[in-house]
Amino acid sequence: MQCPFCGYQRFYIKDSSDEFETYGFDCKSGDVCFDPGIDDASLTDLKDDTHIYCDQCAWNGKFKEIKK
Ligand SMILES: [Zn+2]
Repeated sequence: MQCPFCGYQRFYIKDSSDEFETYGFDCKSGDVCFDPGIDDASLTDLKDDTHIYCDQCAWNGKFKEIKK
């Protein structure tokens, strides 16, 4: 899994109730790995249509677009 634009393997999602709250994760291992310290209870499951943002460039889109 990587950004289709720049190839970066780190992304973040925005909190559905607070757009200034973001949760980072990377996909280097092939699995989604959220940053340590993030409260699991506050995370919504990553679904195919979850909107994600590349941490390095302006790309953003649906989670399914980076899944292989
Ligand atoms: Zn990117």
